[in-house]
Amino acid sequence: MTDPAPDSAFGYRRVLLKVSGEALMGDGAYGIDPNMVDTIATDIAEVARSGVEVCLVIGGGNIFRGVAAAARGMDRAQGDYAGMLATVINALMVQNALERHGVPTRVMSAIHMSSVAEPYIRRRAVRHMEKGRVVIFAAGTGNPFFTTDTAAALRAAEMECNALLKGTQVDGVYSADPRKDPGATRYDRLTYLDVLAKDLHVMDAAAISLARENRLPIVVFNIHAPGAFPQVMRGEGLFTRIVEAN
Ligand code: UDP
Repeated sequence: MTDPAPDSAFGYRRVLLKVSGEALMGDGAYGIDPNMVDTIATDIAEVARSGVEVCLVIGGGNIFRGVAAAARGMDRAQGDYAGMLATVINALMVQNALERHGVPTRVMSAIHMSSVAEPYIRRRAVRHMEKGRVVIFAAGTGNPFFTTDTAAALRAAEMECNALLKGTQVDGVYSADPRKDPGATRYDRLTYLDVLAKDLHVMDAAAISLARENRLPIVVFNIHAPGAFPQVMRGEGLFTRIVEAN
């Protein structure tokens, strides 16, 4: 890694942004809202143009979740493979929106499907980013019983990213769900162990542990607020930072 990008207050030169499938639904209850995808793509384009290398992991929960299917009697592993395929649909939508903004992109899939995406090859992904392409990692880890949060921590570690940015529906990590509990307070900064010990539901424990082992800061912010991603990269606006020690 060379010098930090000048435009990034945290000095992040390469980041991974995790966008949940639900973030793509907008106000809908299922599927994809093209306006929301475009809002997110606008922000990603701005950050990529500022010189920061950006890669993405896109979830699939807006279309299919293995756990939910298993609760209805479906084989869990089979459901998880379906969930991973859902992330590929989302990745293609985000790729399309980014390319409309003139951002060169590559989708790399952990499940081979050579007609629509490149296979995930770590060194090739690094090369794409060095060339200024936004790499979209699709199909999670390629394994059932994992989540795309864990895939995000895994790929961020493999790509030697300076941070994992988790775009959520609220502007950081709260002591309780702020949409249900008006007394919930927002944390500016937490440790990985705080998140695990307080069971704060930011990301699953496997993802938090992987980030901790690799000293990968996690920055949680509201992906729905237009302009929030570039703002957070400048160290402005509201977010929660999760790091090793307070
Ligand atoms: N999934 C999986 N392995 C992975 C990543 C995802 O099996 O490495 C499946 C799992 O069924 C999951 C679904 O893909 O429920 C969609 O991913 P996720 O729930 O993480 O999406 P998000 O909540 O971010 O929208």
